[in-house]
Amino acid sequence: MKLTLNDIQDAMGAIGFLGDAGETVPTGVQTDSRMLQKGELFFCISGERFDGHTFARAAVERGACGVVAERPPFSADEMCGMECDEGGVPLLMVRDSVQALGRLAAYHRQKAKAAVVGVTGTAGKTTVKEMLAQVLSVRGETARNHLNLNNQIGLPVSMLAATGEERFWVMEAGISEPRDMDELASVLRPDLGIVLNVGAGHTQGLGDKGVAHYKAKLLSYIAPGGVGLVSADYPDLVREARSNCAELRFFSIRDASCMYRAEYAGPQSATQGRYRVWLDKKEFELVAPFRGAFAAENVIAVAAAADILGLSTQEIITGFAQARLPEKRFCCQQRDRWLVIDDSYNANPLSALRMLETAHEMAAGQPLMLVMGEMLELGDEAEKAHRDLGIVMARTAPAAVYWKGGHADEVRAGLTEGGWQGELQLVHTPEEFINRFMESTLRAGLVLFKGSRGNRLERLVEAFCAGP
Ligand code: ATP
Ligand code: MG
Repeated sequence: MKLTLNDIQDAMGAIGFLGDAGETVPTGVQTDSRMLQKGELFFCISGERFDGHTFARAAVERGACGVVAERPPFSADEMCGMECDEGGVPLLMVRDSVQALGRLAAYHRQKAKAAVVGVTGTAGKTTVKEMLAQVLSVRGETARNHLNLNNQIGLPVSMLAATGEERFWVMEAGISEPRDMDELASVLRPDLGIVLNVGAGHTQGLGDKGVAHYKAKLLSYIAPGGVGLVSADYPDLVREARSNCAELRFFSIRDASCMYRAEYAGPQSATQGRYRVWLDKKEFELVAPFRGAFAAENVIAVAAAADILGLSTQEIITGFAQARLPEKRFCCQQRDRWLVIDDSYNANPLSALRMLETAHEMAAGQPLMLVMGEMLELGDEAEKAHRDLGIVMARTAPAAVYWKGGHADEVRAGLTEGGWQGELQLVHTPEEFINRFMESTLRAGLVLFKGSRGNRLERLVEAFCAGP
C-alpha cells in the first residue's frame, strides 16, 4: 500500500494529531513488534494471550513510523524517554484495532487495480489459493495471503502487503465463528468468489445453521459485476449459494453436464498426476502436482477461475506444470523403500476421508502404514467423527496404525467395527514412534501422516525421514 498517515487516519476513522507526520507513508503494517521493520505502522491488537499495547514501546524502538491503539499505549514520561524522532510517535486512536485494520484494507482494496479472488471452503483453501496464484502468475503479477494468514488479522495484513498495482490478488478466507465471513468478505469484496467444498470442520464454533450457510456468505459480498464460482457437488452449498448470489458458475468432479469439470487420469510421476479438464467447450489434459481423484476438485476450481479471469488453455497448462504444493499438504516423496505422504498440516473429517481413500488407491496392494492424529475443533461431533474415521481407516486395510492425541478409544472402536484386526498403537513423541516402528517388521510401502495442526505430526515425519 502507498498511503499517507493522513489517508490511513481517514480510512479508519481514527483520532490523532498528526501534524507534519501526517504526510509520512508507512512501508507497511505490522501487528507483531518482533517482526516490525523500520518505517512500518504498528497495530496494537489485544489477543487472548497477549495485549499488543504492551509491545508498542518495543515497536517504536524498532522504528515504527506510528502506532494504532485502542488506548494510550505509553505515558507522557515514557514517550519522552523513547528513542524516536523528535516530536514523538504519531498515535492513531481507534475503538477497535482489528476493525480498523479491516477498514484500512477495505479502503486499499477499493483503490487496487487488481482483479480480486476470494477462496473459501472446508478443505483445500490454501492449496487452491497457492495453485491459483501460481497459475495466474503466468499472465501477470499476483499477490496472495502469506502462508495461511486467513482471519480478521491475517487477511487485511496480506491485502495491505500488496501494492494494489498487481494484476491479480488471490486471498483465502477461513472461518470458525458465525460472524467471521461477514467480517472477512466485506473487507475483501472479491470480483471472483470461490467456494470449494463444505464438510464438517470448525463445527464447534459454527453452530446449527450449517457450514454451507456461513461459507456461502462470501458470495453475497461479491463486487458489482463479479461472479461466484461454486462446487455443484454439495447440495446444501448449491442451495445457499443461490440465495446469496445471482451471477454463479458451477464446477463438478461428478456431474458430466456441469460447465466446468475435471477427472483424475492417473499418475504422471511420484509427485504429479494427470487430470482431464473440461472448460465449457474446451477439453484438454494437464499435469498437476497432485495425485488422486480428490484433487480433481482443486484442479477444476483453479482451472475454471483462471478461465474466467481470461487465461488461455496453454497458460493454464503451463501454470499447473510449474506449480508446487504448499508444504505438508499431501506432499509426496520417496524415502528409501517408502513413499511418504506428508499431510501433517491439518485434518478434518472431509480431508481425512479423501486422503485415506487416495492413499489406499495409491498403495495399490503394497503395505499401507497410517500415522494419524486427533481431529480438533469438532465440538459435539468429535466422538462420532473419530469413530467414523476408524471405520474409514479400516477400509484401507492398513498394515499398521499409529495414533497421536485424544479420541483413541473411538478410533479403535471404529477400526474394529470396520473389521480391522490389528492393534492401534498410541504414540506421544517422535522417539516413541520410531522405536515402535523399528519393532515392527514393516520395511517398505506407503506411509500417510495426517492429523490436526495441534498434533505436530510433522515432527514424526521428520523423524521417519531422518531414519532410526
Ligand atoms: P485451513 O482451514 O487450515 O486453512 P485449508 O482449507 O486452507 O485449511 P489446506 O491447508 O489447503 O486447507 O489443506 C489441508 C488439507 O486438506 C490438505 O493437507 C489435504 O489433506 C486436504 N485437502 C486439500 N484439498 C482438498 C479437497 N479438495 N478436498 C478434501 N481435502 C482436501
Ligand atoms: Mg488454509
